[in-house]
Amino acid sequence: MTLEREILELKLEEQFEALVDSMFHKTIEECTDEEIYIAVLRLAKGMMHATEPNEGHKKIYYISAEFLIGKLLANNLINLGIYDRLAQVLENHGKSLSVIEEIEPEPSLGNGGLGRLAACFLDSIATLGLPGDGIGLNYHFGLFKQVFRDHKQCAEKNEWMEKDNWLKKTDITFDVMFGDKKVVSRLYDLDVVGYESGTGQLHLFDIETVDESIVEDGIDFDKEAIEKNLTLFLYPDDSDEAGNLLRIYQQYFMCSSGAQLILKELKEQKNDLRHMYDYAAIQINDTHPTMIIPELIRILVEDKAFTMDEAIEVVSRTCAYTNHTILAEALEKWPLEYLEKVVPQLIPYIKELDKRVRAKYKDEKVQIIDKDDRVHMAHIDIHYGYSVNGVAAIHTEILKDTELNHFYKIYPEKFNNKTNGITFRRWLISCNRPLADLIESRIGKGFVKDADQLEKLLAYKDDAAFLDAIDKIKHDKKVALAAYLKEHEKVTVSPDSVFDIQIKRLHEYKRQQMNALYIIHKYLEIKAGKKPVRPITFIFGAKAAPAYVIAQDIIHLILCLSELVNNDPDVNEYMKVVMVENYNVSYAERLIPACDISEQISLASKEASGTGNMKFMLNGAITLGTSDGANVEIHELVGDDNIYIFGEKSETVIEHYAKADYVSKDFYKKSPVIKEAVDFIISKQLLAIGDKENLNRLYKELLNKDWFMTLLDLEDYIKVKDQAFADYEDRAAWKKKMLVNIAKAGFFSSDRTIRQYNEDIWKLN
Ligand SMILES: *Cc1c(COP(=O)(O)O)cnc(C)c1O
Repeated sequence: MTLEREILELKLEEQFEALVDSMFHKTIEECTDEEIYIAVLRLAKGMMHATEPNEGHKKIYYISAEFLIGKLLANNLINLGIYDRLAQVLENHGKSLSVIEEIEPEPSLGNGGLGRLAACFLDSIATLGLPGDGIGLNYHFGLFKQVFRDHKQCAEKNEWMEKDNWLKKTDITFDVMFGDKKVVSRLYDLDVVGYESGTGQLHLFDIETVDESIVEDGIDFDKEAIEKNLTLFLYPDDSDEAGNLLRIYQQYFMCSSGAQLILKELKEQKNDLRHMYDYAAIQINDTHPTMIIPELIRILVEDKAFTMDEAIEVVSRTCAYTNHTILAEALEKWPLEYLEKVVPQLIPYIKELDKRVRAKYKDEKVQIIDKDDRVHMAHIDIHYGYSVNGVAAIHTEILKDTELNHFYKIYPEKFNNKTNGITFRRWLISCNRPLADLIESRIGKGFVKDADQLEKLLAYKDDAAFLDAIDKIKHDKKVALAAYLKEHEKVTVSPDSVFDIQIKRLHEYKRQQMNALYIIHKYLEIKAGKKPVRPITFIFGAKAAPAYVIAQDIIHLILCLSELVNNDPDVNEYMKVVMVENYNVSYAERLIPACDISEQISLASKEASGTGNMKFMLNGAITLGTSDGANVEIHELVGDDNIYIFGEKSETVIEHYAKADYVSKDFYKKSPVIKEAVDFIISKQLLAIGDKENLNRLYKELLNKDWFMTLLDLEDYIKVKDQAFADYEDRAAWKKKMLVNIAKAGFFSSDRTIRQYNEDIWKLN
């Protein structure tokens, strides 16, 4: 330890002792872990508050219905540069920082990848020193908490907002008008501290009148009582009309509050609103925040004396749109009638925007209000924003060539790609400290801020000691995960088995059902006497939307398989199946460092990018995946020898959809292996464990519909997956694959992504 550090540590120790004494009148040793947690929170908040905000001439506002930030304590301490020193101070007093970290509840302000991306982006914006804030909503119970009962998912509320938390209540309030009522929005701020850099803010809006007591058992509540329920949950059940209306209420509440905040800040800076685009860029994360466009136009016209032409021009030069999906059902189209009910004041503006498009373009496909009176939110963004970006190279190409081709022909200059990224501060430094330290021991610390430096690791490709060290860390992480699974999931798995992991939202396009069919296939092989050379641990983590019936059925199948396999003495020495409860960011941070094989098996063309794939790669897992999303770019970077690619290409898949010629039953009839696996879903063994209705429905779905073409790729998947397991046994070669994956992961730093957003779209400073 250098003298300088020793002094700093002493200072920190004295400072922390004094803080603890003033708060609890106790020594550190005398405090409970909960008290220490509250003191550490106070310390970090104080230091963050003292950090300089990133400032500049122009600011980016990243508006998003979701920010899946995860626990903040460890990351904030790392970014403040005091993690190691504070850990030492606590250790000196018999406390463990990693135990203290566990106490923090995880805010669940996002569903999955889209929300996690927004959180990684805030970290990178702050770290790069760019002036930029997030704008979102402060959901009291966030996304539901998942529990399993009778092999099924149940949804409960997630209480994350404790008395002591990271939120800062501000005195900034705005009126937000709905057709029949007015609500008052209040701003809560969360400091986002960059890695050894300045800070930005995550602005979360809430209403004063939320009533948590209206939530009945599970996550049911009165959907009509807007003043009480507006910010209770993220995306509550949208399967009925009241749910849809509530979503529109939430979206407008976020957009109107955000618009008012941006205009307030511009005014305080004395910036000329007529050149708003010189001072602010607004990035619209998917279509949920689209109403900020008509809302800004409305305010400029009604309150700031702009003409309609002027307002449209200024707003269009300020707003940029990111597309996250080509799934038709996920592209929002609100019935005009709903919007009329919730936000009547926006209707003249939406109609005006539609009228202007109609006057210029005859093509029905590019209209804002379609012939069924549905408002296409993405179309507003594309016509009245200055940039449209996809989130991985292949995704952007599909947008240009097919999904948004009609728009691309009109505005080729607006389209651009920004391949997603992840923050290495959370997904390496924080979640896999031993690996980060090992890397630093060879190539120095520069990679933390300049991720491309990871490529220097390629020089150690033949360094057996280094490769063994990587492998040892992987094994240690598997031991730690096994202990955690034992405690939390009540299942015993061997750290010497291969850990094969698929963690992501449950959706048919992500094809957890294909992985389940592989498991059935393997189970039947073992039953027939064909044993794998090494045991395999299959791990899943996934929440399913409560109203998504087939997704619930897939969870049911996996939980039934887990019960069958883990309790069958013929089989359980060779394989185990675990579905972890309530998969979230904290769980991801434990699972990813321990993974050998990363399952990225979406139907080609359907996963816009994926970011889980990047986190796994960075932690030395090898991808087993389709040519989809960012897998394509991972493949290009690591080369054929360091990834397992299978399945039909996106062109073929898109053609099948265009011709409507995919018939799953043909694959079922043709292949005895497929037939055997699919039939097993309704076998007497599984029916003895599970629910006939669920298993039957899933079986029929796969046979008669299979919209996401599971059976199309199943045989190739089995073949390539078996190859990956076989290759795992060449330990020396596998360790090299791990190293290459880590070394090539630099491209997927969200610092790179944000630099590109800034250079091509935002142009701050
Ligand atoms: C990264 C992440 C995701 C996104 O995973 P994909 O595999 O890209 O869908 C979802 N949920 C959590 C908790 C994550 O950390």
